[in-house]
Formats: sequence, C-alpha cells, structure tokens
Amino acid sequence: MQKHLSLFILFFLVSFLVFGQSAGDDSASRLAGRAIGNTPLMSDLQELCDSIGGRITGTPACDRAIEWGVKKFKQAGLQSVDTESYTVPLLWIPNSAEASVTSPEKFSIRIAAAPFSPSTPSGGLEAKLVDAGEGTPEDYKKLAESARGAIALIQTKEMKTLGDLFAEYMRNNALMDAAQRAGVSAVLLQSTRPRGLLYRHPIAFGGSYSPMPVAVISREHAAHLARLAAQGEVRVKLSLQNKTGGAYESKNVIAEIRGTDKANEIVVLGAHLDSWELGTGAQDNGVNCALVIDVARAFQQLGLHPRRTIRFALFTGEEEGMRGSAGYVHRHAAEMDNHVAMVTFDIGSGKTTGFYLNGREELRKPINDILTAVAGLGTMDHSNEGVDGTDNYDFLLSGIPNLVANQDAAPYLPDYHAESDVYEMVDAREARAN
Ligand SMILES: [Zn+2]
Repeated sequence: MQKHLSLFILFFLVSFLVFGQSAGDDSASRLAGRAIGNTPLMSDLQELCDSIGGRITGTPACDRAIEWGVKKFKQAGLQSVDTESYTVPLLWIPNSAEASVTSPEKFSIRIAAAPFSPSTPSGGLEAKLVDAGEGTPEDYKKLAESARGAIALIQTKEMKTLGDLFAEYMRNNALMDAAQRAGVSAVLLQSTRPRGLLYRHPIAFGGSYSPMPVAVISREHAAHLARLAAQGEVRVKLSLQNKTGGAYESKNVIAEIRGTDKANEIVVLGAHLDSWELGTGAQDNGVNCALVIDVARAFQQLGLHPRRTIRFALFTGEEEGMRGSAGYVHRHAAEMDNHVAMVTFDIGSGKTTGFYLNGREELRKPINDILTAVAGLGTMDHSNEGVDGTDNYDFLLSGIPNLVANQDAAPYLPDYHAESDVYEMVDAREARAN
C-alpha cells in the first residue's frame, strides 16, 4: 500500500498544479493509474548509470548525460525539448589521488580528493603527519609550530543523520581557516562512513578552491595513522592531480508541455542530472531524473493537456553549488513572475513522507487538500523549513513557491556522494512509488 500511497501523492500533486483541479479529478486518476503499471523508470536509470556512469559537470560523461536527457524527452513525444547553457564559475575534475605512509612502515592509504581541492605539486608532497584532532584552532594551538608544513589528519564522528551531514558542510570553512592559519601543507579528512567507504565531499563552494590540498581518507586508515602518530613520527606522501580552471559553460535540459488556457503560468518539475563519479549517481540523483522523465512520458501517453505549462528540467552543476538551477532562474528572470510553482526531488529513492514548504506555510492547506484523496492510506507530514542545498534554492530566492520532496533519508545517506551510490542500491519499489 505504501507504494500506491506515494505514487498517488506525486501524481495528484502534479495534476493539481498544472490542471488547477482538485484531487479526484479524472486526469489525476489516470496519471496515477498509469504509474502503478510497468514504466521504463528503472530501465532508464540503469541506462544512465551503467552506460554513462558518474557525470561531473564539465566532463564528457556529463555532456553525454545531457544528450541522453534530450533523447529521452524526445522519445517520450515532447515537442519542445532543448538545452539551455549557463556559466559555471570554476572547473574541478579529479584525475588521480594517491597516498602512502613512507615511515615508520610503508603502506598505501585509501583516499579521494575533496572537490575543489587544488592539486599537490606534480611529484606529490611528502611531510610529517600531525594528528590535528577535530581540526579546531584549539587543536592546532596544542600542536604549536609542529603543524607548520605538516600534513594534518582531522578526525570525525560517524555520520548518522541528515543533520550530521549538513553539519559536515557547515564546518568546512572553519576547518580550512584553522588549517590555513596553522600553516599545514595538506589535510587528510577522516571519512565519516565506516568500512573503507570514500566519497566526494566538497570542501569549498562559492567559486574558490580550498587553500591547500584536501583528501578524504578511509575511516580505518585514519584511525591507524592516529595510533601510529601517537607513538612517534609518521611520514606521508600525498599526490592529488585535479584538472582545475576558470569559468566554463554547461547546459540544462528543458522540455516543455505547453498549457492550454493558462499557458503563461509555468510549473517546473526538476531534478539534477550531474553527479559525483566514484559511484554512478544512482540515488543522487539519477533516480529522480528518471522520475521527471517518466512524468513527462505519462502526460504524453495519456494524451493529457494541462491548463498550465509544465517545464521538465534536468539541471546540471548542482554539485558545484546549484549552478544549473541558478542559471535557469537567471536566464528566465523576465518571466519568473509567471512561475507558479517549482517541485524538486533530491533524496534518492527514499519514500516521500511530505514536502518541504520552504517558508510557504500557506501551501500546507492546498497541498493537504489535494492529498485528502489518499488520506485513508496514511498521513503526510510537511515541514515549513527552508532547504538550501538543492535546486529549489534560486527559485526560493526569487519568491517562487517551491517544494522539495521530504524523503526518508536513511537509505540514501550511507551512499551519499560515495563509491556505493550505484544502481543496485536504489529501492525500485520506492522509486516507482515516488
Ligand atoms: Zn543531489
């Protein structure tokens, strides 16, 4: 039943936004009924993950994903499908990352370069390792001059909740600031996921690189190094080679179904197409791109003619700081007042439990009214909190009513930006339901 509950919820919501009609309306029921059946949602996702794979904005893989998105909307029968370019302020593409302990023992260490880390010198850098605790100014004070020129090891707590994950992002500036003041040559940041798992954790946003090379080191190797460093001098060799550069162009995929009598009122349904590349970007966010494509396909298959215009958007540049959606809002500034709603999904295939209203308390009642059609199947709990980590953000800043699906994050968090974010981790049942 949960499957049908969530499925009804999205389709009733979309139907209401574009038809301007209440739940129970025939179009909404037809959409929901069609989605219960077999759809190509999972085969689309498999194609994206297995044939294209990880797709960092600015790479050939991302360009292929953009072409794939265009092809999918055209195959779905949409007449108006195009790409829209925008500027990403800073290029960052990883090439290689290697690290090893050179003394007192020799062994290699599992690391992944942190996005927006500069490269080390081409031959790598070798230095003494210091245990910088949690990387606070007080931790560096204890190390005094011994931190200068050293590679700092920063230890972390295991990430268990979405709150922990946001806290990781929030402390990056303070971490980098303290490390820079201490004069360290590089930072090894302990993975917050156990069992050797590595991930791309952006260390800097806002159009600049971190002040020194930074890599995520496996949780277990970090603990090992800390124990060795407590006993005597440990030396580490680190080589990070990343392609960096200035501003460049990328593209969003925008497909449109033109409305009938309210065509100048626009509803955007979007998800981000780009991903980090250690895995294949299945949960984050391929599955929800497949979802957006499937909603477009559903309208075409059923021959539905919405009163309002629907724009289906596959944004890129999200992982670089929501650059694609910002580019959309910038490009369409003159018609932003015609945008009546924006809806996005970006928490993998977790069950939708409600929507983030993003400060729009007045949306709660109309959304609940739409959902009365499925009230017997369970309740939705909406949050009025504002979400600032995905593609709704620039719509929010522009005053457009925007909804982010509040999904169960538990199945998504362990694989977030990690090597394990691959097709088989997606819950096909919940993905279809969403
Ligand atoms: Zn995402």
